[in-house]
Amino acid sequence: MAGPEFFQTVMGRAFYEGTVPALVKELKKLNVNLEKLIEVSVYGSPKGTEIETCGKCGAPLANKGLCKCEDQAHTAPETQGQEP
Ligand SMILES: [Zn+2]
Repeated sequence: MAGPEFFQTVMGRAFYEGTVPALVKELKKLNVNLEKLIEVSVYGSPKGTEIETCGKCGAPLANKGLCKCEDQAHTAPETQGQEP
């Protein structure tokens, strides 16, 4: 074959020095995210973290400290009958 090899062309250089490293980086990110996704699906939360639950109703909290019950009329068992 006449002419330069692919790695000797401008496109080839951009491919080997730009596209391939970027591809590897994205693959690594994808793997990290997959591992997190598996941890959540198996353990319910990422390793080393505990699922926070609502102090009032005991429901698992998706967002820290926020529970749907907070904006509803909520009767916690320990306060029943104690209010005037
Ligand atoms: Zn709650």
